[in-house]
Amino acid sequence: MSIFTKIISIFMMIPALLGLYKQDADDTVDAYVSRVGSIGIENTIESAVPQTEIYNMINEHFASPLPEGKTEKKAIVIGYDGCRADALTLVGDSYSGIGKMVDAGAFVKLAYCGGVNLPAENTQDTSTAPGWCAVLTGVWADQNGIYSNGVNKTLEYKTLFTTLVENKVIDSANFITSWKGHFVNDDSTYKLEKQYCEDNKLNVAFNCCNEDVASALTAIKDIRQDDCSDFIFAIYEGTDHAGHTFGFSTNNPIYESGFKLNDVLAYMTLEAVESRDTYATEDWLIIITSDHGGYGTDHGGPSMQERIVFIVTNK
Ligand SMILES: [Zn+2]
Repeated sequence: MSIFTKIISIFMMIPALLGLYKQDADDTVDAYVSRVGSIGIENTIESAVPQTEIYNMINEHFASPLPEGKTEKKAIVIGYDGCRADALTLVGDSYSGIGKMVDAGAFVKLAYCGGVNLPAENTQDTSTAPGWCAVLTGVWADQNGIYSNGVNKTLEYKTLFTTLVENKVIDSANFITSWKGHFVNDDSTYKLEKQYCEDNKLNVAFNCCNEDVASALTAIKDIRQDDCSDFIFAIYEGTDHAGHTFGFSTNNPIYESGFKLNDVLAYMTLEAVESRDTYATEDWLIIITSDHGGYGTDHGGPSMQERIVFIVTNK
């Protein structure tokens, strides 16, 4: 564990040790709507787009012709696991991944997880596996089968990693996470797909790191290679860990620090992208997004705070 991670971990323990955390009674729907409305986002909760749209954005990026002066296409998705849309009010002035993108003219949209937008009831858990699987397969659980965590996805609907590499649209992909539920455990979502990539010698890396700093350093190490992975998907868990332990709420300073850990790591990751020697001739699609929100110390359910997420994109 790095010193940086130790300091963050100790800092995050303080409220628990002092018994300071309690359910945030001020986390009402009205307050949530008001916070989301204050951010200056293009759409509203009612017109939020399905998170599956990210799948289409990435496919369209790689399918479209190279812009003038560019010689190679690349894409990176940075996931803030468990990050509510109203957490965008916490973006700081410096060392912020989202702030850096917004300053450069990024588009910010509200999206929804759970299979269907409000006010209809969600048709799949507002949880990690269903959320990221919708992003990576472009379909909801009624097709990809991932209604909850802890289920092996079949190979009927493969992820973008596999399809893009298998169809030779790109040469390589890198999936970076610290949550073992994606492909390390027996009941992990992508256990079968990881095996399929290995069996077919597809150039898809599956990296499960110990914690967020290691995940970011793994992404940055890849980005610093001359021939870095064409599609990088790195998930940082700070917001989700803080939410489960101390409460998903923008009023909660620990949730804020979890968000800021993600956001500074995203900033470092994007700095690495822009520092590439060949950056000027590369056409990058950059997306920061979330798989689900949270309410109280949990997620999976039907509340607006759990179901509305966000998409920040440079295109
Ligand atoms: Zn999650």
